[in-house]
Amino acid sequence: MFADLHLHTFFSDGTFTPEELVARASQIGFRAIALTDHDTLEGCARAAAACAAAQMEFIPGTELTAEHADVEVHILAYLVDTQNKVLLARIAEFQAVRQERIREMVAALNQQGIPLKAEAVFALANCKSPGRPHVARALVKEKLIGNLDEAFEKYLKKGRPAWIPKTKMSALEAVELIHQAGGLAVMAHPGLNRTDEIIPDLVDAGLDGIECFHTKHSTAMAERYLEFAEKYHLLVTGGSDCHGFSKIKPLIGTIKLPYAYVQRLYAAKKSADEKRAVVK
Ligand code: AMP
Ligand code: FE
Ligand code: FE
Ligand code: ZN
Repeated sequence: MFADLHLHTFFSDGTFTPEELVARASQIGFRAIALTDHDTLEGCARAAAACAAAQMEFIPGTELTAEHADVEVHILAYLVDTQNKVLLARIAEFQAVRQERIREMVAALNQQGIPLKAEAVFALANCKSPGRPHVARALVKEKLIGNLDEAFEKYLKKGRPAWIPKTKMSALEAVELIHQAGGLAVMAHPGLNRTDEIIPDLVDAGLDGIECFHTKHSTAMAERYLEFAEKYHLLVTGGSDCHGFSKIKPLIGTIKLPYAYVQRLYAAKKSADEKRAVVK
């Protein structure tokens, strides 16, 4: 019995609908999946319904873009109340930041002589949480560049002409925001963001877990973060970070997290709920 706790749909920068994603998960035979679209909870209702129909467990979530000590860090939220007003309001602010950033990236591209229109990006993204992958796809679609990699290499990655820094939530706020929405806060793919040195600060702020298993983590990295998890008493999670057919073939199925870790997640949620009930 396995799970994949890191998945994206077209509600952020993935290409699958929630139903397509769930159909693939079901085909692989997962017992549980979590949806973790960037800075949005919009896909959760549809994914939950599709999972119920496929008799799979669904874990509502999101992946918040945050920062701490000038380091970008992605914080996964699990088992949050998807109707929580404080969380939804804060997410909406960062969606507005994302939309404004698209306009700034397009303006920077225009200055480079690339005739892309912001409307073309918004039409293609067709979601509230657009990002660089949508700009890259729009460039490819309009035949302004050869492929997605080239778009990032030439224009969109940090330091390139159309790279625009993004206003981010503080990671400490992200943890608090997730907790007040009844969820668990987990540091995403620490091996990608080089966030080792900020782990103690986030643990002090109440971080619940760390994503040890990820498509882009080597075995050595997974082991390293399993040690961190043990040292700081953190939950262990894992997922493919599948974005659908965005660049290569879909990654779903590359990470099969043993279901025992999901049970620990449920247990941690239950005990956090009980503690909150006592405080109230
Ligand atoms: P953003 O949140 O707008 O800064 O975009 C970040 C997203 O872009 C990540 O979640 C990845 O899905 C994607 N991404 C980042 N770097 C690359 C790259 N070099 N090639 C393709 N996709 C990338
Ligand atoms: Fe992404
Ligand atoms: Fe991420
Ligand atoms: Zn992700």
